[in-house]
Amino acid sequence: MKIPFLDLQSVNSRFQAELDEAVKSALHSGWYIRGEQCRLFEEEFGNYCGTHYCVGVGNGLDAIRLIFEAYKSLGVMEEGDEVIVPANTYIASILAISQSGLKPVLCEPRLDTYNLDAALIEPLITERTRAILPVHLYGQVADMQGISDIAKKHKLKVVDDAAQAHGAALGGRKVGSLADATAFSFYPSKNLGALGDAGAVTTSDKALADKVRSIANYGSTIRYYNEDKGINSRLDEIQAAVLRVKMKYFEADNVWRQKAARQYGEAIHDEKIALPKVENPESHVFHLFVIRCGNRDELGRYLADKGIQTQVHYPVPPHLQPAYSEWGHLSLPITEKIHREVLSLPISPVITKEEVEYVAGWVNEFGG
Ligand SMILES: *Cc1c(COP(=O)(O)O)cnc(C)c1O
Repeated sequence: MKIPFLDLQSVNSRFQAELDEAVKSALHSGWYIRGEQCRLFEEEFGNYCGTHYCVGVGNGLDAIRLIFEAYKSLGVMEEGDEVIVPANTYIASILAISQSGLKPVLCEPRLDTYNLDAALIEPLITERTRAILPVHLYGQVADMQGISDIAKKHKLKVVDDAAQAHGAALGGRKVGSLADATAFSFYPSKNLGALGDAGAVTTSDKALADKVRSIANYGSTIRYYNEDKGINSRLDEIQAAVLRVKMKYFEADNVWRQKAARQYGEAIHDEKIALPKVENPESHVFHLFVIRCGNRDELGRYLADKGIQTQVHYPVPPHLQPAYSEWGHLSLPITEKIHREVLSLPISPVITKEEVEYVAGWVNEFGG
């Protein structure tokens, strides 16, 4: 058997006719950026998340950055202020903080959920701390209750990175409505994926939403009048039309991912393998199915021999990347252990029961 890590062709071809129609109609509309499709998608996705506002933007990195740029423009934050962020996140969360002139402060995650450890946040808070940026890594909602309590106590904003967690929920409330503002990516491989780059910001704060929309458009609300030194990060009509089609199906896709994850969890029974800890069924939408194992590289090679493609999310933590050489002296043992040991098994809305059984079988076989 050959099992690809993620076959986007199979994922998207399920909706081929509808996607073709949506793209064609956007193509022929004569309006390509911030038109009717964008407006409708914003309305539909905002309603889905349970927020008053949704702003379509160019990608997930910009979505995070725009929130901070908007807070700066509104006088809530200023250059050099600090944002607490999990040290084991995908580097985009951290780049967005740096790019908006703020200072990322790395916090160790929990080893069992890979999400921010609320117990480790308070010691990192200083005079300059203005926000906490939880990341719902691999598709599981972070400890938003613990984080909000700390934020409230210290008057900090909570901005979450939901690039991997579309549709995940906590106490019946969807990700997107669990923080002051939320950033989404619709990169093609995400749970809700476009056919190119796309992203969104959701919030119920009108001033913030207006500011994000303006800064994403050169800092302009009235054409050729600029209030901020903005950027260009807009959602185009073709991607918005595609996203409106895919929105109809992505909840069912999440249920499929959860089912595959349950099957993996029941089938893998090697005690040397750490399975994902699911705190609560609605709160994990399994963007990735990540296991941990002491000899991760060997397991990856072994599975590759059996035709099973795996990936590592992620091989090098941000503080050890050349891009952040100023952090080279930092020691973050939990983060470093995670990056040494994690391995992502194939999971997707089109993975079959037989494929999961095959992968789990070889994982068990490897353990002996
Ligand atoms: C994908 C991703 C991003 C960035 O999204 P882009 O659309 O690729 O810019 C940010 N944070 C996390 C956690 C991601 O997985």
